[in-house]
This record gives sequence, structure tokens and C-alpha cells, in this order.
Amino acid sequence: MQDYIDLAEKNGVTLFDNGVCQFCDANVKRGIHECLEIFNTGFQEIDFSKSKNHIYRFLIVDAHTLQHPEIHGRWNNHFHLSRLHLVFKYNIQWSYELSPKLSDHLNMYKVNNSNEYLVPPRVLERGKITTSDIREKSNDEEECKKMIIKWAKEVYSVWCNSYVFVDNISKVFIANNNSRLNYANI
Ligand SMILES: [Zn+2]
Repeated sequence: MQDYIDLAEKNGVTLFDNGVCQFCDANVKRGIHECLEIFNTGFQEIDFSKSKNHIYRFLIVDAHTLQHPEIHGRWNNHFHLSRLHLVFKYNIQWSYELSPKLSDHLNMYKVNNSNEYLVPPRVLERGKITTSDIREKSNDEEECKKMIIKWAKEVYSVWCNSYVFVDNISKVFIANNNSRLNYANI
């Protein structure tokens, strides 16, 4: 779990140990550290062992990563925004088997696009819903699920300047994986 501290340093970002989360504005007392604790241990209302609930895990990871790109490698943005694009724009029913396929696809994409950089929205302007909202405002499983969807949709919407890139990635991914894909509205 110290990885994020190293990554922030590598990205030239100083992490603040107190106050709200400096990236997403989550209402916490120990900054990004507590924001990550909620990310890692919150959402207990949902039984993630059920396959119908896997989608919420994917959305949580995508939303949180895209709200905190400074503590991740830069290609993570491509992965998580592409996945949200595939889920929200193309209604792909995501499953665990698709994630490594998307990673493989991006590894090939990187070869010819090694200088491409997705510019994140400014800090504190990455969607109004944050980890602390989910902790404070969702009292049961259904509320928690609804809020996760809203959270992921908000984060997805503020990354709109990068849709042009992930749309190209998504179209080729869909063409190459057509036989594996199922569709569902979320
Ligand atoms: Zn945060």
C-alpha cells in the first residue's frame, strides 16, 4: 500500500497527510490516506462474491483511479476511462475476463501511441461524489449501488476531453472481442 506514495513522488506530487482529500475533496481528516482506506475497505454493504455485483467493483476502481491519477501510472487513465466508455457509451456488460483483454489491447495500442497523454480534469473538479459521500450517505446495499453508478458517471463525464482517444480504443476493442461481449444497460 506504500506504492501510491512512491507513485505520487514519481509524479512530482506532494501528499498532504491532513484535511480533505487533495484530489477529490472527500470529507476526510487524513487526506488521501483516509480516502484510500474507504476505497479499500468501504462498500461492505455489497456482496462482491455475486457475479451480478462485480460491475460495482469495476466502477469503484475506475471512478477512484480517475479521481486520483496522480497516485497511478499514466496509462491507468487509458485503461479505466476506456472501461467506463465501454460500459456507459457502448453498454458492454463488463466481466473479469474482459479486463486482461483490455490490458492486452492497450499494450498494443501503446506501441504506436507512446507519447499520448490523457490530461486529467483539474484537482477537486473530478466529480462531486467522493468516497466519503458513499460512506456517509448510503445506508443500505441498494443506495450504495445507486451512488456508485452516479459516482462513476460523474467522473466519466468530467473526463470528456479524452473521449476522442478512448473511443478509438473502444471501437477496435469491440471489433476484436466481438464474440466475447454481452450488452446491458446500467
Ligand atoms: Zn480522494
